[in-house]
Order: sequence, then C-alpha cells, then structure tokens
Amino acid sequence: MQDTIYTIPVTEAYETPCECPLCALEARFENDRVNYYLGPSLMEPENRIDTNDNGFCGKHFKMMYKTQTNRLGLGLILDTYMTEQINRLRKIAGEKPKEQEGAKKSLFGGLKGKGKDSQRAAQGMRDYWEKHSEKCCICRDLEKTMDRYIDVIFHLYFSNKEFRERFDGGQGYCMRHFDILCDRAGSMLSSGRQDAFLSALVAQQLDNLSRIQDEVNWFTKKFDYRNAQEPWKNSRDALPRGMRKMTGDREIGEN
Ligand SMILES: [Zn+2]
Ligand SMILES: [Zn+2]
Repeated sequence: MQDTIYTIPVTEAYETPCECPLCALEARFENDRVNYYLGPSLMEPENRIDTNDNGFCGKHFKMMYKTQTNRLGLGLILDTYMTEQINRLRKIAGEKPKEQEGAKKSLFGGLKGKGKDSQRAAQGMRDYWEKHSEKCCICRDLEKTMDRYIDVIFHLYFSNKEFRERFDGGQGYCMRHFDILCDRAGSMLSSGRQDAFLSALVAQQLDNLSRIQDEVNWFTKKFDYRNAQEPWKNSRDALPRGMRKMTGDREIGEN
C-alpha cells in the first residue's frame, strides 16, 4: 500500500499549496506519460502493439505534439497506429486486406449498387469507432494511477497527522476532482471515516469556492473608476482560476 511511487507524488502535491492538488498530480503524471510514450516506450514491441490497438485521445495527442521534442517518435507511433486502424476498418467494411487485392477498387468487393452493404459497412465502421474513440493509452493509465493516488490520500489522511493538517488547510479542489474524491470516499471508506473525511472536505470546498468568487467579484469591481486606485489583491488572475475551479479544465488561461 505504502508504495513510494504513489506516496511521493501525493506528499509533494500537498506540500505546495494550490487550487487543486489532484490537478497538480494529474498534470505531473500526464507529462511523465507523454514523455514515456514518446521515449522509452517506442522501442518496446508490446507497447507498440498497445498504442496501435488503443491509440490516444485528442487531448493526449495534442500534448505529445506540443512537446516538440520527438517528432520522429510521434510520427512512428502515428504511422503504425493508423496502419493498424485502417486495416481493421477495411475488414469491418468488408474489404479484403490490401496486399491481396492490388487495387483499391475492391471496397464492398463487387457489390456495386447494393446500398444495404455500404450502409452496413458505414454503420460497422461507426460502431467500431465509437468504442475505439473512448480508448486512450494515457487516459487509461491516468485513471488507474489517480485511483491509487486517492487510495494513498485516504490512507495518509487517517494515519498521518501532518498530512491531515495539510489536507484540511488546503484550498479545496476543482469541481471535477471534488466529485471524484467524494465518489471514491463513498466506495472506499467505512461509513465512520466517510463522515469525518467528507465533512472536512465539503466545508473546505465551500469556503474556497466562496474565496475565489469574492476574488472574481473584486475583479469586476476594479472596472469601476472609483476603485481604480484600490489594490488588485488576489484578483488579477481570478478569471482563469475561477473557471478552472468550476470545470477542472487546466488549460484555461494557458496560452
Ligand atoms: Zn482538479
Ligand atoms: Zn487520453
């Protein structure tokens, strides 16, 4: 349980006050994972089978592209992933594998005019893609790891006084992670512990939502000429912080 690969990031995330320690953990893990898939994973045949099979969601492809460090690596991943998916789609559409055909006129193999076959092919491709687009190697790794992090948070909360004080003195969570924390507390903690944990969490969350709302409110008041000389206090970045708090979208306010 007290696996250091999970405890160290959790402890560190709570040592630095922020608007959502789970967003910080998520960002750290996603960055590590992006670098992993663009680096060491490339040379591992079983990882390539995995990335060809599951691919990446738009968000994580975007992160890989943004690193700009290994365009060749990304190209290799994308090339074999597309090859694999195109082969599957051809099969679903009823086309024989490319090598055996020579030409590409083979789609629906001589079924010209048979509208139902093309509809079936299109529907098959759509059904496959609907399921496929929910897959992503990094999303999958992330979900598993976030659950372990939350496990560690619960464990430390009830066993480590210093951690509990940090947790209780925190600035709350984005609403997305607040929801996840409450959900996991419901399924992973005994009812007595749930009570203790959730009462502290709910109070903290409400206080901190109000704090940011006050800052957003002061931001709007600063537009009044009578407040022009007043200090900004914490309100300069209140808009992106408020939007991030409400949605859990870490990219809001980034360039
Ligand atoms: Zn968050
Ligand atoms: Zn993803």
